[in-house]
Amino acid sequence: MPQFPNAIHSKLPLVGTTIFTVMSRLAAEHNAINLSQGFPDFNCDKALIELVNKYMKAGSNQYSPMAGAIALREIIAEKTENLYGTQYNPDSEITITSGATQAIYTAITAMIEEDDEVLIFEPAYDCYQPAIELNYGKTIYVQLKVPHYTIDWKEVKKLINHRTKMIIINTPHNPTGAVMTADDMRELEKITAGTGIIIISDEVYEHIIFDNRQHQSVARFPKLAERSFIISSFGKTFHATGWKVGYCIAPQNLMAEFRKVHQFLVFAVNTPMQLAIAEYLKEKENYLSLGNFYQKKRDYFNQLISQSKFTFDNSAGTYFQLLRYGSISNEKDSDYAIRLVKELGVASVPVSVFYHKAIDEKVLRFCFAKKEETLEKAAAILCKI
Ligand code: PMP
Ligand code: GLN
Repeated sequence: MPQFPNAIHSKLPLVGTTIFTVMSRLAAEHNAINLSQGFPDFNCDKALIELVNKYMKAGSNQYSPMAGAIALREIIAEKTENLYGTQYNPDSEITITSGATQAIYTAITAMIEEDDEVLIFEPAYDCYQPAIELNYGKTIYVQLKVPHYTIDWKEVKKLINHRTKMIIINTPHNPTGAVMTADDMRELEKITAGTGIIIISDEVYEHIIFDNRQHQSVARFPKLAERSFIISSFGKTFHATGWKVGYCIAPQNLMAEFRKVHQFLVFAVNTPMQLAIAEYLKEKENYLSLGNFYQKKRDYFNQLISQSKFTFDNSAGTYFQLLRYGSISNEKDSDYAIRLVKELGVASVPVSVFYHKAIDEKVLRFCFAKKEETLEKAAAILCKI
């Protein structure tokens, strides 16, 4: 028998199951109110479901074009130009993806080579780092500054060198609900000018932004847009996280590379949903009303919780609210979150999981994309602590 090397060598030895799966499972096991994983507990618009039905019945059930249904790409181009003032060509600069997760993985895979450095800001959404590692890139972590999770651009500048290939930003930001300002974007523009640095701008919460703030898409900044992949998701925008339909926008030279990967990763995304979303997007209110819709939920939850011992600053965007529990307990946030599920019946996400060094700031993330009655039940429990 020849000697074979051990066939299984993990490419991600330190990665376990995502916190969202872990917490949702724990919530189900303990019959707890689940404010952990980010998804609405109410249905998406019936009209949208009927549109999917219409297209299925009409026979739109075969492969869509590799880059996505053209009707959908066209209306995304129109929406992007109307909102952010930059024109993208639907033929060559927009691709429909299986959720934002696939778009992020695809953009990273298309760009990152061995030892390329990628800057990400922590606490960070959990899918960036594994995608970088799988492509043999190196993740460089920049910590957002508490209490408002802002970016220290001087620190960013110091970390940039000839190996820096990419910077990943996310605004509105998961898990903190922080929002980047126009000044932030101008700093990013200055720092990347004259470099070959590529940006991934994760804008899945572009429409979930509060208190009259304006979403600073990189598409508003031509010098950034020319080096950026912009990624969004209809899961967030249309309360349909289970449909896994999102998109990526980028200038033609970047998008050409993106599609080389996309065509072999998924080839194309499911057809009837793309066509339904394209038609549904014609009614602008369907996405423009989203900020108000979720602001009411945030205000409702925060008003209920104001009677509790938790402290917080209002979330500026996303459907997440951070709550600090330092005056209640000294436990590690992950232990405290587990105890909250098991003993009290409310599931949240400990923010330390979004740091590679598991920094514990005694903060938990709660998703308020829930019916009023769900928020009331959760708040009643949290207020008794
Ligand atoms: N980026 C961020 C910041 C997210 O919060 C999420 C999902 N919640 C995603 C990407 C992934 O989106 P999708 O479900 O469309 O893959
Ligand atoms: N983005 C969602 C969250 O932050 C969950 C996505 C997932 O479960 N993968 O909770």
